[in-house]
Amino acid sequence: MTLNEIFDNMDWGTAPENDKLALLWIKENNSTFEHFIDGKFTKSKTYFKTKNPANNQFLANIAVGSKSDVNLAVASAIKAQKKWVQIGCHRRSRYLYAIARLMQKHSRLFAVLETIDNGKPIRESRDIDIPLAIRHFYYHAGAAQLMETNLQGYEPIGVCGQIIPWNFPLLMLAWKIAPAIAMGNTVVLKPAEYTSLTAMLFAQICIEANIPKGVINIVTGEGSTGSFIAEHKQINKIAFTGSTEVGRKIRSETAGTGKSLTLELGGKSPYIVFDDADIDSAIEGLVDSIWLNQGQVCCAGSRLLVHETISEQFYVKLRKRMKRLRVGNPLDKSIDMGAIVDRKQLSTISKLVKENGHEGDCFQPNTSMPSKGFYYPPTLITKMEPSADLMQKEIFGPILVSTTFRTPNEAIELANNTKYGLAASIWTENINLALDLVPKIHCGVVWINSVNQFDAAAGFGGRKESGFGREGGSEGLLAYVRPRVQTLPLKAQKRFKKTKYKADSKNYLDKTLKLYVGGKQVRPDSGYSTPIYGPKGFITHVADGNRKDIRNAVEAAHKAITWGKASGHLKAQILFYLAENLDTRSSEFVENIVSTTGISKELAKKEVETSISRLFSYAAWADKFDGLVHNVPIRGVTLAMNEPIGVVGAICPEEHPLLGFISIVGPLIAAGNRCVIIPSAPYPNIAVSFYQILETSDVPAGVINIITGDEGDLIKTLSEHHDVASIWYFGAGKNSGKIEKLSAHSLKRTWVNNHKTRDWINNGEGKEFLRNATDVKNIWIPYGE
Ligand code: NDP
Repeated sequence: MTLNEIFDNMDWGTAPENDKLALLWIKENNSTFEHFIDGKFTKSKTYFKTKNPANNQFLANIAVGSKSDVNLAVASAIKAQKKWVQIGCHRRSRYLYAIARLMQKHSRLFAVLETIDNGKPIRESRDIDIPLAIRHFYYHAGAAQLMETNLQGYEPIGVCGQIIPWNFPLLMLAWKIAPAIAMGNTVVLKPAEYTSLTAMLFAQICIEANIPKGVINIVTGEGSTGSFIAEHKQINKIAFTGSTEVGRKIRSETAGTGKSLTLELGGKSPYIVFDDADIDSAIEGLVDSIWLNQGQVCCAGSRLLVHETISEQFYVKLRKRMKRLRVGNPLDKSIDMGAIVDRKQLSTISKLVKENGHEGDCFQPNTSMPSKGFYYPPTLITKMEPSADLMQKEIFGPILVSTTFRTPNEAIELANNTKYGLAASIWTENINLALDLVPKIHCGVVWINSVNQFDAAAGFGGRKESGFGREGGSEGLLAYVRPRVQTLPLKAQKRFKKTKYKADSKNYLDKTLKLYVGGKQVRPDSGYSTPIYGPKGFITHVADGNRKDIRNAVEAAHKAITWGKASGHLKAQILFYLAENLDTRSSEFVENIVSTTGISKELAKKEVETSISRLFSYAAWADKFDGLVHNVPIRGVTLAMNEPIGVVGAICPEEHPLLGFISIVGPLIAAGNRCVIIPSAPYPNIAVSFYQILETSDVPAGVINIITGDEGDLIKTLSEHHDVASIWYFGAGKNSGKIEKLSAHSLKRTWVNNHKTRDWINNGEGKEFLRNATDVKNIWIPYGE
């Protein structure tokens, strides 16, 4: 090429990164990598081959983790954990810092290894993956140091099983390992089959940093190795990132085991461009959004929604930009897109587009691509129907699908028209409009005039079928600790003997307590009722609710959507008013509790007084459970906003029939949720009679719904209901596992008691409840011209 030609077309030349040292490192390890267990490399019986997707050449043999390898790793992690806690926060912090420093020292080797193993452009592994992974260890070295100050009353969970995908191999490892060990846990991590190399280099760094043996264990392998981890009885927590399908399976497998679980799953995130957006920036944003890592990104803005008035102009510019995207050798620093991770993934992408591309106008630039290796061109499919397969399915490749919208409301409807809820990107020069949209989009992260911003100081995670739990930031630390409380096995409350029920024929008054749905007392669909007996005999009848009643209650709760938008001040006033009205009728409640449960008047008084105080607490919290502004390294702010989860189903404890009910309803409504409550199984009449207080306290219809009936039947309908976002269970039936299993399909967030007691008087309120009543949304708002 002549100098004149270069000036004419302004094309960049190639700038290849040398992979010699990385290949040498592999060779020095005999091109074979073993599990890292108990501080040393442990031989395996079988191996699989890992290849470079850019040229399909063999890279190394990787050990396949068997059940006994996983057992060995877990045993080592258990042994190490006590000492890892005992060495204290400062010593742990120093170890994390040592890892960060060593990663920095080897950062170029990490970057090249990541690129040859995964196929992502070196520009990305060098400038995004590796620096962010290092940043995670720095941030969490600090989090370990401050644990005693910031997380008083919390303790580590124990041994954490961590299963990660292939799209950001080292970064996902850092996301998982850094917070876990910072908080005093030990880990057994499985990298993805396609991409284990950087985890192996990381293991060598752990040896160099003298990390105590057993604190970090890495078992490589296939999906089966992952399931040995997920199923392991002595693992206390599972953190998984990957497909929704496997996430659902893990939810189901871990149900009832008492393991805590966080799932970071797939997405189909909207990328919304308004007519007043800075179009050139929005187009560059798209390049970083859907063509980063060849679109193999869970939060990729894969659904482009463009304001109709600018759509044609926008698509013309976008196609022009796509023609200039370079696809090729990932080691070339001038390349925009590298290789797809594996032949299998490439054929999944190709098949999806081949079979469904006709659903819209499909554009692929005539990009030159290497003849060897697994490459796919950037693709844009416009004029899509919102319900089209490609608008709904996660493709996990460089395919952007698009449709248009006319009004902000239509944009919100389209954005939410997905089973996923991971991220969203909004482009407009009108910050008022952008901020108005933010709370209306059901997802965990929103980027305003920006995209794919990540940092260790900010939380990340989704809603709906994108999973639950947050990683990163202070919210991410909470996923690796639990409240330090003594719990004991739960005992069912006393059921009193049936006595003969005699209707008073002279003075007949039907005392049957109805259900409370949509702000009204309603008869149960079944037409049946159940008698409740106290120590002195028959007390009342309560309605026998069934699945139809649950569905009606969920529908009523859905209609009360404005409660989620009500101001903290309004919610506080209503909660204060509830407390005031309960106070006025406190003697009646004391008598009812005594006659129903048989406890002393003194204890019943204490229960009512605590209930009033608890309502005051949540009235106080309603306008004080603030979010945060995270300290991320951008010119801008990252807000962590506490949002209501939506419609929550909750099963009250058997004990403390009033206080248990209040302790659940209080935080749920203070946080803006609407709820369907199943009261104490043996003493439901106490909570049902609370409807009189609800009616006199201005609680909007549908915010609180109360359904009595057979717990087993009601739980099934609630857990399987796709419009219920979360379930809380504090009952005495052994239903925690059942709820977790039944809610696996819809991937609901659950909070269950695992058949353990709680001291409702002294430990029944506060932030633990409010955190379980909210989802954190991280909102990235860059500023400056
Ligand atoms: P998977 O969900 O299958 O894999 C993620 C991790 O889980 C890997 O380490 C995998 O092991 C492991 N795994 C697989 N099966 C099981 C199991 N039964 N129990 C426990 N662990 C298991 O994702 P894939 O890599 O197969 O990708 C498939 C699709 O998933 C992609 O096309 C994409 O749509 C989505 N995906 C989403 C990601 C996200 O970040 N949200 C990331 C990656 C993929 P192994 O690698 O050995 O199979």
